[in-house]
Amino acid sequence: MNATCPDADSFDVAVVGGALSGAATAILLLREQPRLRVLILEKSPAFNRRVGEATVEVSGYFLCRVLGLTRYLNESHLVKQGMRFWFANPRATTLDQATEIGGEYLSRVPAFQVDRAALDEEVLRRAAEVGAQVCRPASVGRIELCPGGRQILEVRHGGTVRKVSARWVVDASGVVALLARQQGWRRINTAHPTSAVWARWTGVKDWDGLELAGKFPAWAVACKGVRGTATNHLLGSGWWAWIIPLKGGDMSVGVVFDQRLVSWPAEGLPGDRLKNFLLQHPVGRELMAQAQWREGDVHSRKNLAYSSATFAGDGFVLVGDAAAFLDPFYSPGMDWISYSTWSAAQLVLAGQRGEPLPPRIARLNQAFTDSYQRWFAAVYQDKYEYMGEYELMRRAFQLDLGLYYLGVASQPFKLGAMALASPAFSTPHSLPFFCFMRLYNRRFAQMARIRRQRGLWGRRNDGRRELISGFTFSPKTSLPLLRALAGWGWLELTEGWRTWFSRAHPSSI
Ligand SMILES: Cc1cc2nc3c(=O)[nH]c(=O)nc-3n(C[C@H](O)[C@H](O)[C@H](O)COP(=O)(O)OP(=O)(O)OC[C@H]3O[C@@H](n4cnc5c(N)ncnc54)[C@H](O)[C@@H]3O)c2cc1C
Repeated sequence: MNATCPDADSFDVAVVGGALSGAATAILLLREQPRLRVLILEKSPAFNRRVGEATVEVSGYFLCRVLGLTRYLNESHLVKQGMRFWFANPRATTLDQATEIGGEYLSRVPAFQVDRAALDEEVLRRAAEVGAQVCRPASVGRIELCPGGRQILEVRHGGTVRKVSARWVVDASGVVALLARQQGWRRINTAHPTSAVWARWTGVKDWDGLELAGKFPAWAVACKGVRGTATNHLLGSGWWAWIIPLKGGDMSVGVVFDQRLVSWPAEGLPGDRLKNFLLQHPVGRELMAQAQWREGDVHSRKNLAYSSATFAGDGFVLVGDAAAFLDPFYSPGMDWISYSTWSAAQLVLAGQRGEPLPPRIARLNQAFTDSYQRWFAAVYQDKYEYMGEYELMRRAFQLDLGLYYLGVASQPFKLGAMALASPAFSTPHSLPFFCFMRLYNRRFAQMARIRRQRGLWGRRNDGRRELISGFTFSPKTSLPLLRALAGWGWLELTEGWRTWFSRAHPSSI
């Protein structure tokens, strides 16, 4: 949607960035307080395609049940069929020889593969519909913060620069991270040096089509669900790639790698380099041989992980990528948006109601700081050491996903949207789970290092097909967790003992 700037220069809330985070926050605010004067300032005249295309269970809940988008998502995007993982080693030369983990049937809890340009336009349109004023294209420059007072924003729009004031600024500027950079709060996560290269493609083979079914009949019938609308992950040593279908036929395909473990090819066109990289994997070779990237739609980003040292104060709050970003593996980006936009809206609304803000602000800052750091240590730190190693990753995946279902994704479904006020790992009762997850994550990374040294890395990355029945919020989900726990114990007894008494060393190998 396109819009012109309103004449007024005084608002209750100014939202910087009108994509998902900004527009969602505006909707949450206006739904509670329809009389709030909310201005959304969006730099782009129209949203381009962007990464962030797979939702998971929390973000699915947020989009469907909080923003009310179920029908729209069903009509205009694709229902996602979970995650699938494809491992390889030199013995796996064809698609059907690559070890697979994924659901045997369709998924049980809704999630979607979304075209972010279309989704974000729709959410922004709905924000305007509930009363937000949208100024677009308009770029925010400096923001003068005045705790407890009115915040002043410098806005460039239509060739002029003007000042706009608001009691609250919501920074939803994405990776630009306007406030965090301006205030010197932005911290690169140097313990997690990852990069990504991605594009949208045509000509990627149909996972569920007759060609592959004819070529690999046993492989095709093994899965009773649909493989093509899953987020398919190709895994290698120190890297992974996603293959995500978009409504209309294009595919989003990209690679994320740990800069300490992978050297990205230096020569050639960016699209060629990406394609050649993917062709080293047997599944990439089969699916992508005739694929062509969309001209002008090849992108890259270095040092993906960062966080702001401050998330909120009296007069401002950071949401979505403007607050922090961790890692796209498992697609937690929109979960973070769900938590941060919900919490931001609650803070602003409490301020509007005249409630005392300092304790709320302190709680919010602590919760998001803890959540970022613990989420990182529990799930992502040094994961690139072992994510391409089937025997280690299968256990980590079962534990990660099982615990996510039991302790994180189930919460909003059981308690309602208020559960989004507590980002993952921020509550005291999540602490033991955090410690447990950090422990096994460290142990798998350590075992992967030893496997590399002993030449055993990836020895079962071919010839296995692990088709799981899928997780739910029922206590029965604990059963695969128990199996995974036993599997981890076995790995410790058979090989982990070699590192029990050595000090864990940092990720470089
Ligand atoms: C490689 C990769 C893969 C990913 N995959 C997934 C995934 O599968 N699932 C998932 O959930 N997440 C994923 N993410 C994360 C996801 O892309 C982001 O979390 C999400 O897009 C952030 O949305 P946002 O609204 O916070 O920011 P953005 O989408 O970046 O929007 C920010 C908006 O602010 C505007 N803006 C910026 N500066 C200004 C300014 N000065 N004035 C006015 N407007 C401004 C921009 O124009 C933009 O529209 C991925 C990220 C990466 C890097």
